[in-house]
Amino acid sequence: MYLGSFDGTNKKIFFQELWRHELEAAQAQSPIVIVPAGSIEQHGPHCPPDVDISIPYHLAIATAQEIDDFPVFVAPPVSYGFTHYNMGHPGTITLGLETFIALLCDICRSLKANGFERIVLVNGHGGNVAPQRSAAVKLAEEDVWALPLVYWQLVEDELHAWSETDEGSIGHGGEWETSLQLYLRPHLIDKTKILPPGADYGWPREGGRFSSKLARFAEWPERRREAPYGVVGDPRVATAEKGERLFNVIRDRLIEVCRELHTQEIRRYRQFGSSSA
Ligand SMILES: [Zn+2]
Repeated sequence: MYLGSFDGTNKKIFFQELWRHELEAAQAQSPIVIVPAGSIEQHGPHCPPDVDISIPYHLAIATAQEIDDFPVFVAPPVSYGFTHYNMGHPGTITLGLETFIALLCDICRSLKANGFERIVLVNGHGGNVAPQRSAAVKLAEEDVWALPLVYWQLVEDELHAWSETDEGSIGHGGEWETSLQLYLRPHLIDKTKILPPGADYGWPREGGRFSSKLARFAEWPERRREAPYGVVGDPRVATAEKGERLFNVIRDRLIEVCRELHTQEIRRYRQFGSSSA
């Protein structure tokens, strides 16, 4: 994972590396803070456990590096997520549901309280989708606005159009996550552990044990990592080129999101009914 810091030549994008005067100067320019969130969990025999945080973290970094006309900072990543259904597999570390939501809320409350009001949460883990949205809704109660993005939901059309085997799903250590890793961190993918052609990954394409009608509702509340080898999807068709192509489109979408958010007024509670109509 890229953990480069300021060496005097590159742009400072990591929130925790900025000096006080830089933070203060940025606050006058409607800055964006991206908070990547992911998970530490098993990802099959060929991937490391930090796939789901590495992808949104790299996306956040690439986005911040591309935007020069206003400040975009990357907050320290929330590496741990909500992944109870991967327990029992080595490599998995989960937070409790309430802990994860509270962690996101505390980070966003702090950013807002100290002058950073345009917050983009970028999630890379399926189990975090509903909790991240819940955190954003909870924050809205307190007049804190954090946009709860899920990176693969920015490119659903492309995922459907470009999938060879995984039918538009981001999967789990399958076609797309493995491709993204082969692009971002090829040294961490053990290709010798990917199953040979003809072997069965047993991807439960129709919702596993449930009918598709029931799976739509049951999937996440019930979910267990029952797929053989802990993989959902087919990493045999993964390539770095596919990963690069997808990564660049997601980054461009994230740039568009930041640009739009940058121009938005921050709305605050105000009294209704006091003005004369
Ligand atoms: Zn994953």
